[in-house]
Amino acid sequence: MLDKTCIIIGAGHSGAQLSVSLRQECWEGRIIVVGDEGALPYHRPPLSKAYLAGTKELSNILLRPASFYEKQNIEFNLGVGLAAINRADKTVTLNNGDILNYDKLALTLGSRVRKLTIPGSDLAGISYLKTAKDVDYIKTLAKPDKKAVIIGGGYIGLETAAVLRKLGMDVTVLEMMPRVLERVTAPQLSEFYTRVHTEEGVNVVTEVIVSSIEAKDNLNSVVCTNGNSYPAELIIVGVGVLPNQEIAEKAGLAVGNGIEVNEFACTSDPDIVASGDCAWHYNPIYKKYLRLESVQNATDQAKTAAAYICDKSVAYNTLPWFWSDQYDMKLQIAGLSQGYDSLVVRGDIKHGRRFAVFYLLGKKVIAVDAVNSPAEFMIGKKLIIENITIDEAKLANLGVSMKEILTS
Ligand SMILES: Cc1cc2nc3c(=O)[nH]c(=O)nc-3n(C[C@H](O)[C@H](O)[C@H](O)COP(=O)(O)OP(=O)(O)OC[C@H]3O[C@@H](n4cnc5c(N)ncnc54)[C@H](O)[C@@H]3O)c2cc1C
Repeated sequence: MLDKTCIIIGAGHSGAQLSVSLRQECWEGRIIVVGDEGALPYHRPPLSKAYLAGTKELSNILLRPASFYEKQNIEFNLGVGLAAINRADKTVTLNNGDILNYDKLALTLGSRVRKLTIPGSDLAGISYLKTAKDVDYIKTLAKPDKKAVIIGGGYIGLETAAVLRKLGMDVTVLEMMPRVLERVTAPQLSEFYTRVHTEEGVNVVTEVIVSSIEAKDNLNSVVCTNGNSYPAELIIVGVGVLPNQEIAEKAGLAVGNGIEVNEFACTSDPDIVASGDCAWHYNPIYKKYLRLESVQNATDQAKTAAAYICDKSVAYNTLPWFWSDQYDMKLQIAGLSQGYDSLVVRGDIKHGRRFAVFYLLGKKVIAVDAVNSPAEFMIGKKLIIENITIDEAKLANLGVSMKEILTS
């Protein structure tokens, strides 16, 4: 195996983990990680949190220091992108013209932001929030008492709103749907986040469609179809992401909503794996194909892919989990809530900032959203994994401990 080469394309969470896991799984050949961002892999979640707030620098959020990769003999080729995969001769062509041979290829290409196509979307002062470079630009415009408009009331939009408020900006969030976080949470959670953001001074506007961005006297204004307009020095767009799958598709690999992989993270080509945001994977827990956008998935699936490459296949069947930090609140989410038929709220969701919402299907918990409630999150995970039948009244009763609920 010494003379074999594994090329990993994409130097993010999943690519970095894959390189490390390959060494742990005893891959002795070359490992080359190619990444178009020009930086060693870094933690992406702090971009809308501590990195935006200015309390952490890029050097503080690197996944691992350069010395670690050197010791592991993991090579990096940064600042260059994949242009094509040539499966017949097992090579990749990079956008600087280089051609590299591979024995095994890993695609950890992540996702890219969905771009606005309305008039004015390319004006200066408008940014997306995906890379450290994006945030470096945002920071040049994030000044106290200036106005920020965030288009999109998803997790990234709301986290950004929280940080910009802390930085003293006047913040408006514009959401097209009737409620924030509509795609991912129950109405009760949306109501909760709208209340907290309003308490913190954010102007949350829902059911509003942005139609253009207009520049007037050195200031941009976000114009909506209802005639309202919102002037702002800083406009941030957070309207979702798309999987980077086109190069794989062009190479003839099967794709769905992402690059299709089986439970071993293997694509339709046995010498090519894919993991992370770009992977449309078969999930044995949910018995269907899914694409997830979380650090947990990027990391755990990379471990599965590395094991497959080293002929030690173990099916990927980890319960998805995710977190979001806003103000003094840590939201921890376990499981996928789609398809629930009832909810149990444990704690004071109407007035407080510490509670958990359990999503039930019949008498079984399928997901939990826990705000400042680590025990509810930890034990909620067990309730889901162990498929435990619960008593709804007990679950809602703060007088009954989570441990008791688990054991009874
Ligand atoms: C602002 C922000 C906040 C987030 N907060 C959270 C959070 O709180 N909790 C959580 O669980 N998740 C969070 N996420 C999601 C999480 O960061 C992603 O799910 C995770 O980074 C996915 O890892 P990945 O390796 O699949 O993709 P990425 O980390 O995006 O890495 C993919 C890399 O591949 C590169 N690439 C793409 N195409 C090419 C090409 N052709 N050639 C070479 N390189 C290429 C990309 O530039 C990128 O560097 C957040 C994401 C963002 C943007």
